[in-house]
This record gives sequence, structure tokens and C-alpha cells, in this order.
Amino acid sequence: MSKPSSSPTASTPIDAERPDTLLVHGDGRGDDETALAPPIHMSVTYAARDPADFADMSSRARHPRFYTRYGNPTHERVARLIARLEGGETALMTASGMGAISTVLIGLLRNGGRAVAQTSHYMGTSKMFSDLLPRFGVRVQLVEQADTAAMIRAIEADATALVMVETPSNPTMALTDLRAVAEAARRAGAISVADNTFATPLNQQPLAHGIDLVVHSATKYLGGHHDLIAGAVVGSEALVERVWETSIALGSTLGAFDAWLLLRGMRTLPLRVARANANALAVARFLEQHPAVTAVHYPGLPGHPQHALARAQMSGFGGVLSIQVRGGYAATAEFVSRLRLFTHAVSLGGVESLAVHAAAMWAGTLDEAQMRAAGVEPDLVRLACGIEASEDLIADLSQALG
Ligand code: PLP
Repeated sequence: MSKPSSSPTASTPIDAERPDTLLVHGDGRGDDETALAPPIHMSVTYAARDPADFADMSSRARHPRFYTRYGNPTHERVARLIARLEGGETALMTASGMGAISTVLIGLLRNGGRAVAQTSHYMGTSKMFSDLLPRFGVRVQLVEQADTAAMIRAIEADATALVMVETPSNPTMALTDLRAVAEAARRAGAISVADNTFATPLNQQPLAHGIDLVVHSATKYLGGHHDLIAGAVVGSEALVERVWETSIALGSTLGAFDAWLLLRGMRTLPLRVARANANALAVARFLEQHPAVTAVHYPGLPGHPQHALARAQMSGFGGVLSIQVRGGYAATAEFVSRLRLFTHAVSLGGVESLAVHAAAMWAGTLDEAQMRAAGVEPDLVRLACGIEASEDLIADLSQALG
């Protein structure tokens, strides 16, 4: 006689509050799963049990088992974790950070509508505001990110549909006052959106400051290993559903394998972010004293012009800083080429430390004056600290500075 079967696994996610436990147990194991590593749902399409089930699958928004561009069980697991971390009701996964940002902007803005954004955003986001959205009749006003009063004036100057901020911003580490901007946007009836990629939800939760939607390049800290491209949009069910409706038309769908890699990477997010925060602070303190460095831009340093704001809205200051090297473009290029542990490569947020000579990316197309006008100083280097020992990172910077 066979024994009655009992399920040894939980079908509902464990309701952990602390991120360390949430990220290990909070995505939920299926009733039929005994494997600890989650399955990768590679199937594009899912069988209906009967006609009523098919009608439900095809009409319900964001059904996770209908057609993968609409939703997928592996997306659903990772989205649950990102939403909980950010304190949002739900999250939508996308194929990249730019997939998240472009889908939000195209989904929520209309011809003739007006958006307020910042002078310094991630390059792709700036391109959306300077080129793509105006081509579709969206009016855009850009404001310097540290100037809260100017941002509020711009929001109030005319009917505003959407406000986009990125804090800390790339590559100068300037901050935006999230609460002040969120309140101004709410008064004006505008949707506020924050790119929280640099900070991560462990260091900063924009929704708790009143922002409506958070976007991420999950390629960075959330994934954490420089081995996947992904994005996420987090917020209320109603707003995320509006964005999802655009996403199924635009088709920026995250691959199931990358969703799985992201889920795996996120298990260790708190350990990695804590180390990256500590490394960046140690490196910033060392470089601040170094005679070959003329400026260190890191919100965790008491000398940062917005340190008080950083303390008010961040619980950690992140793994990215930027510095200016004495001697101009050539000396800076030489410094970057001498680095051994910091790899000269774009991106950030992975276990390996990376360095980018911002001006070198533009050297072929812009002269020094044009770069300055674009806010890229010729001697500016962005350092993204990984999880190596801080002593080794400091030794590497020390030998490269000479
Ligand atoms: N937002 C920020 C702040 C970024 O740094 C990046 C990429 O570097 C993006 C968005 C775009 O992300 P992705 O490369 O995943 O499309």
C-alpha cells in the first residue's frame, strides 16, 4: 500500500523581512519542487487545462504561464524579490536596464506631454530625453541634478507628466533630493521615476521617499557578476501594469536563463553590497589624502557637498566613486593603464573592481572643451569597487598613481 504523499516544500514564499533571509528564501518554491536551485522555465508557451483556463490565461494581465513575452515563472520569482527589496507592490522584468527605462518613458509619456529630467543621466537615458522622446513630440526640460529648487521650479513651470531622476548620478556622484522631488511631482500630478541602479535597494529605497516607480539596470549590483543583462521596473500594481502593456508591444523580454542567473546572483546581494560600500569608503578616504588626486567625489565622505542629504536618504553610500587625477588627460590615461586589479572596462556592480576613464570614451569624437561642456572632465575616472580586499585595491591604486 502506498503512503499518502505529503508535500515537503512550501508553495508560498517565506515572508522574511530582513533582506539577507528574504533573498535566500523569499522567492517561493513550487508545490512540486524539492530541488533547492530554482528551475529555469525555458518554455515560451504553456498548455491550457480547459477552455475556461485558456480564456483566463489570454485575458489576465501579466499571467506568468501564457506566453513568455507576457510573463514567465522564472521572471515571476526574481520580480517578487526585487519588488520586496524596494518596498513596491510588484516588479516587471525587462531585457536590460535600458529596456526598463525606455519602456517606462514610452509607456507613460504622450505626444505633447512634458517631462522633467536631469542634465546628467546614464548615456542611454540622456539619449531618450535628447533625441528619441522629442521625435515623438514629448517636450523635455533638463535640470542640474543637485539643484533641488530648480527641479521644483521646472516641475511647477508647466503641466508635467513625468519626472525622472537618477541618484547618485553617473559619473560625478551628484545627488537628487528624492523626497522634495517626489512631493513636487505629486503636487503637479506627475509620475516620478528614479533610477536606483547605483545605490541598490539596500542603500536607498526611493519608493519610501514618495517616488512612484523605480527602474534598475539589474545588470549591475542585482546580478553582481558581470555575466547577464537585465532590467526591472518596480512600483504599484496599477502603474507597473500600464508599463507592462507597453512592454508586450515593445518586446524587451528578459530571457529565462538570464532571469535565473539574476535570481542566483541576488542571493548574495547583501554580502556584496556591504563589501562594495566598505571598499568604496576605504578607497575614497585613501585617495582623498593622495597628492596625485585633485578631487574625490563620493557621497560617503563628509567633504562631499551633499553629504547631509546622502545621510538623510541613503543607508549606505554605494560602491562607485569618481576621482580627478593631477596632470590632465594624458596622466589620467597613464594612471588607468597602470591599474592591475581595477580592470579598465565599462559597467559596475560586479564582484570585480572596474575603472573607466570617462573622457577616453569620447576622445575620438569630442575635444577637451566639448567634453567639459558635456560635464566630462578630461581627468575624471570612475572607480566601481568590487568585493576584493580593500587593502589590495588601495595597493593597486597606490602603485598606479606612482
Ligand atoms: N542606468 C544606469 C545608472 C546605468 O549605469 C546603466 C548602464 O550602465 C543603465 C541604466 C542601462 O542598463 P543596461 O546596460 O542594463 O541596459
